Amino acid sequence: MEISYRNPKAFLTKTGGFLEGYEYSLNPYIGCSFGCKYCYVRKLPVSLFRKEEWGTWVDVKQASKESFAKELKKAKEKGPVRIFMSSSTDPYQGVESNEKITRLLLETMTEIQPDFLFVQTRSPLVKRDLDLFKKFNGNLLVSMTIETDREEIRKLFSPGAPPLKARMNALKLLTENGITTQAAAAPVLPYSDEFPKKLSGITNRVCLDDLFMGDGANGKRSIKLGMEELHQEAEAEEWFNRKHIHQVVKDFEKVFPAENIKINKEGFIPFQEASEKT
Ligand code: SF4
Repeated sequence: MEISYRNPKAFLTKTGGFLEGYEYSLNPYIGCSFGCKYCYVRKLPVSLFRKEEWGTWVDVKQASKESFAKELKKAKEKGPVRIFMSSSTDPYQGVESNEKITRLLLETMTEIQPDFLFVQTRSPLVKRDLDLFKKFNGNLLVSMTIETDREEIRKLFSPGAPPLKARMNALKLLTENGITTQAAAAPVLPYSDEFPKKLSGITNRVCLDDLFMGDGANGKRSIKLGMEELHQEAEAEEWFNRKHIHQVVKDFEKVFPAENIKINKEGFIPFQEASEKT
């Protein structure tokens, strides 16, 4: 893993409407060591302009509490501040254990609270920050990607990402401690019959997405990334089909109330009202 350090002028990036309902995205790192094979960021400029392969490098954005606090205050003066962390990296990838950039940003946000914060990760390291999550006034959702319950499938599609069991345990811990959470089966990958039930035991809400709706290019990026071939390798060709999501929704409806099943973008938009929380 090639690790470099940067001193960015700003941390908050205006979303320009790309992330529905959010004014800003917040990426503590550039690059991502998890290197999921289906990651659409592989096809974005941030990855294409680098010589090294996606998943082999990380730039650490060095932060100071004072400057991020200043940035947050300024943003709040201008209007609502709803933040998506993170859109093109994982805020809890391995390097965060030592660098603690995500933790520093969160600490600052507990003091100067955004109107809403969405934390998106695949890492059990997220449980380290339970103490900070508890300080948010109900304006936070922690979303853990759990695409399948089959470890051999995880190893095929995202060999560099943390094991599923550890993710499930971390999500359960956060839920049991009163944090609003969701499991994001996004993109959903071939799973066992027990998968929906397993998720219902660790969170109240799921987001379901597939490699067609979720790649930002109606499936074209997923095809370019070789997802069809990977499904063949997994002997699960029928899962790489844009109609399959209907079966997935039916499977989840057996154990989750319909209102707690969010599809595609629905699973990522901020709460409008406290009553929407589950
Ligand atoms: S964790 Fe997210 S950003 Fe990182 S490689 Fe996987 S999909 Fe891409």
